[in-house]
Amino acid sequence: MKSELNKLFSDFVSIFFPRECGCCGCVLKYQEKFICVACDFHLPYTNFHEYSDNDTARQLWGKAPVEEACSFLLMQKDSRVEHLIYQIKYNNQPFLAEYFGYLYGLKLIEANAYQNIDCIVPVPLHKSKLRKRGYNQSTYFGRGLSRAMEIPLREDILVRKKATISQTGKGRLDRYENVNDIFDCQATGLPANVHILLVDDVLTTGATIVSAALALLDAADCRVSIATLARA
Ligand SMILES: [Zn+2]
Repeated sequence: MKSELNKLFSDFVSIFFPRECGCCGCVLKYQEKFICVACDFHLPYTNFHEYSDNDTARQLWGKAPVEEACSFLLMQKDSRVEHLIYQIKYNNQPFLAEYFGYLYGLKLIEANAYQNIDCIVPVPLHKSKLRKRGYNQSTYFGRGLSRAMEIPLREDILVRKKATISQTGKGRLDRYENVNDIFDCQATGLPANVHILLVDDVLTTGATIVSAALALLDAADCRVSIATLARA
């Protein structure tokens, strides 16, 4: 009876405030949460967490000495994933990042390579961008991962000092010149050899996450692995 009432109430509310699928924009049915059944079925999951030699890891080879790297979804042009990332970043729907973070966390706790993570660190936004957007989507992604994996989220370790990276677009990062200008790392109080899972929403050129990883490796006695929600 109670669930019928809930459904009735939900249907009533959705007449005025229809909930939309985060991936295709269709109106969600009562039993669908965040994304529709069709999108759930068709999303291009990479399964990169199942093998270390994957495209995300390869992209970082020679740029940052990370332990493991993976991305949950493949983002193609004009795709469901591109729509999803747009909703997350520009349409005030960061809870979608948390939802997918939670789903990915459930996969990562089952994966051999991600068994020894001590904390999750989101790539921070510069305060000017944070003020403009109102939230950091990578924090939401990290929050979902944190809940599923039962590993603490640490937002206090990395601070972004510079809003843009000049090399973005060239595909390479001059690590020695710029890393410490972009991120500040507060590593005091971290245990020795701590294993950090550095997380971000989308991997494109990789310049930002490489820079963040190098800042961590430079300042802390740590190992770094990487997980992103999507890769372009
Ligand atoms: Zn959909």
